[in-house]
Amino acid sequence: MLKFLGRGSAFTDEHNSACFVSNDELVIMDCSMTTFKTLNELNMTLYERVYVLVTHTHGDHVSGIGMLIDLLHFSVKTPITIVAPSSEVEADLFYLLSRIEGCRSDWYDLVSADELDKEWMICPILTTHTEELAGKCFGYCLEINGNRVVFTGDTNTLLPFEKYLGRGAYLYTEMSAYKSPVHLYCVDMKDKIKTLCDSGVHVYLMHLDDEKRIAQTMEGTGAELAPLMQGGLMMEDTEKMLNGIYDITDSLYKNMCMNSTSDHNLLFSYLTDLGKTIVDADRASFWKWDKRKGQIWTMSATGVDKIIIPDDKGLVSKALRTKKTVVTNDPYNDPDFNKEVDIKTGYTTKSVLTLPVADINGDFIGALQLINKNDPAGFDEVEDPKKLSLAALVCGIALESEMFLEDSHHDKLTGLKNRMGFYYDFSKRYKDYLVPGSDKRMSLFICDIDKFKRVNDTYGHNAGDDVLAFTAHLVESCCGENDMVYRWGGEEFVMVMRGAELDEAVRKAEEIRVKLEGSDIDADGTTIRCTLSFGCALFDPSKTIEENVSSADEKLYTAKETGRNKVCF
Ligand code: GH3
Ligand code: MG
Ligand code: MG
Repeated sequence: MLKFLGRGSAFTDEHNSACFVSNDELVIMDCSMTTFKTLNELNMTLYERVYVLVTHTHGDHVSGIGMLIDLLHFSVKTPITIVAPSSEVEADLFYLLSRIEGCRSDWYDLVSADELDKEWMICPILTTHTEELAGKCFGYCLEINGNRVVFTGDTNTLLPFEKYLGRGAYLYTEMSAYKSPVHLYCVDMKDKIKTLCDSGVHVYLMHLDDEKRIAQTMEGTGAELAPLMQGGLMMEDTEKMLNGIYDITDSLYKNMCMNSTSDHNLLFSYLTDLGKTIVDADRASFWKWDKRKGQIWTMSATGVDKIIIPDDKGLVSKALRTKKTVVTNDPYNDPDFNKEVDIKTGYTTKSVLTLPVADINGDFIGALQLINKNDPAGFDEVEDPKKLSLAALVCGIALESEMFLEDSHHDKLTGLKNRMGFYYDFSKRYKDYLVPGSDKRMSLFICDIDKFKRVNDTYGHNAGDDVLAFTAHLVESCCGENDMVYRWGGEEFVMVMRGAELDEAVRKAEEIRVKLEGSDIDADGTTIRCTLSFGCALFDPSKTIEENVSSADEKLYTAKETGRNKVCF
């Protein structure tokens, strides 16, 4: 619950002081000069107001308050409230502060705890410490995020605090390595602390004059040393965000290493999720720019289905065209914002950040987009792109690798998938059909252009290419949504039909055969006609992929042997 700026006693390098954040306000428990020094290294502009809860007026508890008031007044410009545990201590504090040069009473608020209206303040708890502080030394009972928190301050007894300590409560208690009448001696306190821990109280030790000895003595009680703030960062939100980021990257890493079905889509979905977490946005998407088609489309998007839009409108297009990050915190008044998705889905876009991403040559190929930052001010034009840079960079590399993979699976002449694409699809998409004993049906055919060599020889290679491209398109145009066609080699094509029985494959082959037979093909300026021979087979999952293609190929051979322009099965 509490993070400590220091956990030492009066004679140590870092005096005892703790803090917590509630509703963007920073609450500090006591503030010595060493506390001030640590606070000065923090980004105090993050907080709307700073509170200092004073336990008592010893120098190692209040000596930094004057400097803090100065700092907040002149430099940070954040208001500060000093909270005294009682009106008597309030009067003492006023006296102390009024004697500090440059610490004017209108630069701070000074109130006693009973005047303070804050949900985290339950009550100050009067305790005993040195004689001269009789009636003026307190601890506090607080409630932080629904948790009971008891902070003893300096004390020589736990008695006044005990009634606030139920199961699940957090007790931050002072502890000393030396026997004295004003502090809690660890050897004497050991049993008491163990009893508290056993009863379900979380006990943390603070105001330590000898950490090592106290830790040794308290071993086995269940108590821990008070947690120190790390790296100057204390916002629980920051910690939560970092953990969120590590969870995503860890799970992405494991998925990429151990999940054999992982692919680029998985990568994009993790990366967009990462971007969302990093800048605390509501939605994230990653877009690919298809320059050839003049379109951009989502590779991954949270909250919406796949979107394809022309590349001449919208903020993603703007970012890609201008090659710059685009931030819009008032999208409905931005002429580049495309309202269509909001109109369709009923979503209200309030802020948008679009970061274009480039391939290794610096050519822009896609964009990472974040929507609705969880902050009324929207996205920061400098800070947010900086935070997103790594996610965007990895998105760019991932997209480029996806494009390379796509390229290597496609044939340039016909635009069809090639044999590499065929094997890739079998390893990723058709896995279920490969399980021996599977009741899933799949059929395939292989077809080959008849006497194609003659086309080349008679009309030239360019004409041959035109015939190939024409035939490929014709076969592809007959593909159903569960079918896929591949250029198997030279003038041979394979169609895989998921969920199809052999007779369906035969019917489809026959349909294509008839269509091509009747087609006039414009081949390099000459009109020619061509025919196809087919071999069909029902996929047998007990055989290898090669053996299955061979089965169809044997039928194709029969078709060639018995006159061509026919379908055999
Ligand atoms: P069959 O009816 O027995 O299949 O006879 P065919 O002439 O079609 O078969 P063959 O295997 O003898 O010839 C196939 C030809 O296809 C040979 C090769 O040069 C040509 N070819 C392969 N790939 C391409 C290509 O990309 N473009 C062109 N123009 N021709 C190609
Ligand atoms: Mg041929
Ligand atoms: Mg051939």
